[in-house]
Amino acid sequence: TAKKAGRNAWRFYNPAMNATASERLELTNGLRCALEQDQLELYYQLQVDLFSGQVIGAEALLRWHHPQWGLVSPARFIPIAEESGLIVPIGAWILQQACHQAAQWQAEGLGIPVVAVNISALQLQDSALAKTVRAALDQAGLAPSALELELTESGLIQDSEQVRATVDQLKGLGVGLAIDDFGTGYSCLAYLRRLAVDVVKIDQSFVRDLNSSADGSAIVTAIIQMARSLGLEVLAEGVEDEETAEALRQLGCCQAQGYLYARPMPASALPARLAERRAAGAV
Ligand code: C2E
Ligand code: MG
Ligand code: MG
Ligand code: MG
Repeated sequence: TAKKAGRNAWRFYNPAMNATASERLELTNGLRCALEQDQLELYYQLQVDLFSGQVIGAEALLRWHHPQWGLVSPARFIPIAEESGLIVPIGAWILQQACHQAAQWQAEGLGIPVVAVNISALQLQDSALAKTVRAALDQAGLAPSALELELTESGLIQDSEQVRATVDQLKGLGVGLAIDDFGTGYSCLAYLRRLAVDVVKIDQSFVRDLNSSADGSAIVTAIIQMARSLGLEVLAEGVEDEETAEALRQLGCCQAQGYLYARPMPASALPARLAERRAAGAV
């Protein structure tokens, strides 16, 4: 019944709850069909320059429209996609889709120079990842510099020969590399240097604490100083108000992403949103 489905939907929505084995199975089976049944969609969130206000890119964020459960959060289903290995074919689809979108926006002159794509730990362990990325770029006719891959510390901490080789191959393709959710894992300076990443994305949990706690501000300050001394760009995630944006500028952080600028939205909503920004005087 609808009521029962509704209750289940709530259970699936709640990322704080641990999935039981049967829920997990249900999610896994659902995900298996999601690609072929066209239930997956990429949303995009703008990334901006904190000083000029200019749009510097957009991050692709996966959405799953389930026929019964409604919109399922990626925080909920990405871990399931990883456990089941489904993230590999789904990840390939995401790369194709994002590259096509980026190429289309460039052809339309929309002013989104870079599209960022999240890469999960399991994808990094796939020795074919660089090939998959290369194929997506080629098919879309997109320059590698217009694609940025967001890697996680948990993916990099594997530090196997395999992961290192893959990161080198990706770098060799000419795509940009960012470390996502920086500060939440085993951040290691030596890593950042050896892996030659371009951008450090400060996790929103630290950004949120920036103005409310001395510790929060100390962590953000340290990350920004460290990244800058290594010549890396710093992007702050989860910027929701102007006070936070101003504090970040004071600390020398140049890039941001968050609800203050735009929420993640379907690709089709982006042109109107950009026009709105221009009309409001933002670049
Ligand atoms: P993430 O890559 O760190 O993405 C940032 C998350 O923060 C997104 O949640 C975004 O909607 C949210 N966010 C952005 N600005 C704000 C803000 O100002 N305030 C608050 N409270 N939240 C903000 P979302 O879309 O639910 O994605 C959650 C996570 O799921 C992502 O974290 C990423 O780890 C994973 N994910 C999403 N899409 C993909 C994908 O295509 N591939 C892979 N492998 N993982 C993905
Ligand atoms: Mg990300
Ligand atoms: Mg992040
Ligand atoms: Mg995150």
